[in-house]
Amino acid sequence: MFLLLGARCDPQRWWPTFVVDACSRRIVSRLGVLNGSEGYEAIRTRLLNALPHEVPFGNEYHALLGTLTRSHCRKQRPACATCPLQQFCLFAA
Ligand code: SF4
Repeated sequence: MFLLLGARCDPQRWWPTFVVDACSRRIVSRLGVLNGSEGYEAIRTRLLNALPHEVPFGNEYHALLGTLTRSHCRKQRPACATCPLQQFCLFAA
């Protein structure tokens, strides 16, 4: 989820950021975007650099990662056969 966090110098100016949770960490590591051992800040920075800095886009992106995690990319026994990201995924069974 994009939240308004992290002021630079001027506390009146807020910058959108991306909250890395278990869903986003799992999917980016399984897709091979990152290896999964990176820290929170490294993952957040990588996602922020890859995504448009638009709050509605970030909110939807985060929500879709959560939806995909619940529907397919579960921690145990992911449903890779029907996953829409299967062709891009290094972890696909
Ligand atoms: S193909 Fe499997 S491991 Fe890869 S993102 Fe989809 S459900 Fe997750």
